[in-house]
Parts: sequence; C-alpha cells; structure tokens
Amino acid sequence: MTTSLSPTTSRLTGSFLKDLDYSVVQQCMHCGLCLPTCPTYTTTKLERNSPRGRIALARAVADGRMEMTPAFGEEMYFCLGCLACMSACPAGVNYAEIFEHARAEAERLGVLNSLKRRIIRWLTVKWLFMDLRRLLLVGRLIRIYQTLGIQSLIRRSRILRLFPQPLQELEAMTPTIPPKFSAPLIAPVTPALGKRRYRVAMLTGCAQDLIFSEINRDTVEVLARNGCEVITPPRQSCCGSLHGHNGEWALAQQLARRHIDQFSPDDFDAVISNAGGCGSHLKHYAQLLAEDAGYRDRAKKWDAKLKDVHEWLMAIGLEPVAGQGHPAQTVTYHESCHLCHGQKITRQPRQLLSAIPNLTLIELPESNWCCGSAGIYNITQPEMAGQLLERKMKHIRGTGAGVVANGNSGCLLQLINGARQHQVQIRVAHPITLLAEAYRRADGHRP
Ligand code: SF4
Ligand code: SF4
Repeated sequence: MTTSLSPTTSRLTGSFLKDLDYSVVQQCMHCGLCLPTCPTYTTTKLERNSPRGRIALARAVADGRMEMTPAFGEEMYFCLGCLACMSACPAGVNYAEIFEHARAEAERLGVLNSLKRRIIRWLTVKWLFMDLRRLLLVGRLIRIYQTLGIQSLIRRSRILRLFPQPLQELEAMTPTIPPKFSAPLIAPVTPALGKRRYRVAMLTGCAQDLIFSEINRDTVEVLARNGCEVITPPRQSCCGSLHGHNGEWALAQQLARRHIDQFSPDDFDAVISNAGGCGSHLKHYAQLLAEDAGYRDRAKKWDAKLKDVHEWLMAIGLEPVAGQGHPAQTVTYHESCHLCHGQKITRQPRQLLSAIPNLTLIELPESNWCCGSAGIYNITQPEMAGQLLERKMKHIRGTGAGVVANGNSGCLLQLINGARQHQVQIRVAHPITLLAEAYRRADGHRP
C-alpha cells in the first residue's frame, strides 16, 4: 500500500479535521510502537512531538475538545512528514491523512498567520512554484550570481554577518545552478535504443529541473536504453506536492489537472518520476480530484500509470550492463522517506545499483531515517534538520563508501550540503546517474 499526503475535500462542516473520516482519527490504539521510529520524538522525548501525541491532538480538535491554536499549528509543522511512523504502525493508522488535514486546517484558520509568513508563502508556494518560467528565471539570476564570482566574493567578505541568521543559513544552502536546465538537454521525443517496447512520459519536476537537470537527462537516456520511447515536453509544471503538503491544496488540485491534461494517461504505458517526494504525491491525484467529476476517472488512470523510475525499470527487466573495465566503486544508499515509507519502494534501487559491474553496495545504518531535508523543513526548522543531517553524515562517514546514492532531489541537496558542512569526502549521486555512466562506459563512451 502506498500512502497519500493529499487531504480530501472538506464538504460537511468546512473543517478539514472535523470532516475527516472519523475511523481514521480513532484508529490509533496508543501502543507507542511508532515512537522509536519518529525522529522528532527520539530527539526531544516529548509526547507532543510523537506520532501518537500528534494524533491525539488532531483527535481532540476533531472532537471539539480543543480549539485550534498556534501551538497546534507549530506542532504540525515540526513534524517532518517523513511517514516512518506509518511503516512502523501495526494498526495501519493513516498518519499521512491526519497530518495533512491538520496542516490544512491550521492554514484554513490562519493560526500561524503573520505578515512575514504570508509574504513568503505567497512568493514561493503561490507565485514561484505555480509557473516554472518564474522559478527558472530566478535560477538564471542565481547562476549569474555564482558564475561571476559574486557569491564567493560575498562569502569571503564579512558582509553576510550583517544579515539575520536565517538569511545567512539560506545563503549557505543555495544550490549550484547548472548551465542548462532540462529542456536544452533533452529532446521532446527520445527514441528507444533498439526495439521500442514502451512509450513513456518523463516528468522533469521543478527543483529537479532547476538543480539536477543532468539527472533528468540520465533518466531519459537509461529509459531509452531499456526500450522506452520517452516523451519529455520542454515546458512542464511543478507536481503540486509542495502545495499539497503545506495546506494549499486548491493549488495542488490545479496542478494535478494541468498534469493530467498535458500527459493523458491513455497515451502512455507509464508516466515516470525520478524524485521520491514528487512520486509519492503524484501517485495520489485520484484522491486529490475525487470530487471533480471531470477528472476523477482520468486521475485514477493517471495514478495507475505513475511509476517511480527504479520501480519501472525493475518491473520491465533491466537491460544488463555489458563490458569490462568498469572501475571499482563503493556505494552506500540513503533512502528518501517518501520513496521508502511513502511509496514502499526499498528493494528496487538496491537491485538497480547491484546491477552495475564492480559496484559494492554497503548498507547504510538507519538508511530510512530522515536526513532533515523533508521538503522545505531544512529552511523552516533548521535546528532539528541540522541535528538529523549530522546523524546522517556520521553514518555515511562510517560506511567508508566513496559514493552515497539517493533518489530524491531534496535529499540529494541536503546530502551535498551535509558533506560540505561536515567535511565528508564523498560523491552524492542519483542511482540512475550511476547506471547511466555504466551504460556509457559499456558503449565505449566517456561516463
Ligand atoms: S511523519 Fe515522521 S516526524 Fe512526523 S510523526 Fe511520523 S515519524 Fe514522526
Ligand atoms: S500510530 Fe500506530 S504505532 Fe503509533 S501509537 Fe498509534 S497505533 Fe500504535
């Protein structure tokens, strides 16, 4: 079973929590088995920071025993949404549903509202991520800032110390923007190499397109190598996970409709995502559009066609990597929360990595423990995110691996920053990139 992070439409009282199916809220039997798997509870040892505590709070609001307060809203945003508690729960409590409804309710009532918060949310969630041309324009400006040497000049000078701490931290996390985004790297139609077995659509994403366009190119190349004709429209949209996870799900619905219109599920054998966080959201458009008669049926087909790239490649049978002379490499694998807990995809990325000749896979302790990225959590909750990152880097260092592989753009960025901050000499790479390099080597090309 995969899990949803998209609240259903509120129809009765207008309250997301009061209208949530009561069987979901009351299902928790308070056993506490989820507690040791929860990163926030494990760190603070406070019941309110645990899944059980958060469920109890949500139930109290749903029952009308407690008013929605700013403290409630803050608690829901202190939760990472990593869904580790769902993997641990023997009763199958749908924590994702409770948590998303709780956040949506906090937004509906505006309990966390402040002018600064409203401006930031409007600029990011409602403006920047609703049209990727705006996001890519910002990316180009950052690229100019980086390539002209302004960034290194500013970092070397002491100017940044004059700015508030959050701004300094944000600057330190600025990703390196590549010279090209996905559109100039990938043809709209990439033919299958050899006999065409499938026709698939490739979702290039938003952050993925902005920061990791080469992973998108590698994904298309690997899909083509495995008998897929790949359709990659140059102009695409954000999948809406950012909106759905932050209580803006009217916008999430708008983006879901846009995707279904652009990639009609009847036209493809699969619609491919290569980012674990996006895939977890993309697989639940049917729930998001359950009340929309014009899209409901197509959304169901869409969900069935949506595949994570590891999942798809292992399902169709991975083309073996031929050739000699592949360099020896030691790789450890950090699992994206939404790939392992959200989509229950744990085996396939490891199988894919193990198919690369001369690659030794070293199991990472606590591989499915959140790295602190969690969407924009590392920006909104830097202290907790920093603690989780430190824990993750300690384990990664302990493996002695030369590469850490991961299948989600947010985690990749967090790991790159973590390696720099904690001075861990390690390459951070998507499993698909490692596979693409191996295929190129096998074909006698430079990786
Ligand atoms: S989603 Fe993660 S952080 Fe939130 S309650 Fe569950 S385990 Fe804890
Ligand atoms: S969420 Fe599940 S594991 Fe956690 S206390 Fe409730 S029933 Fe137990």
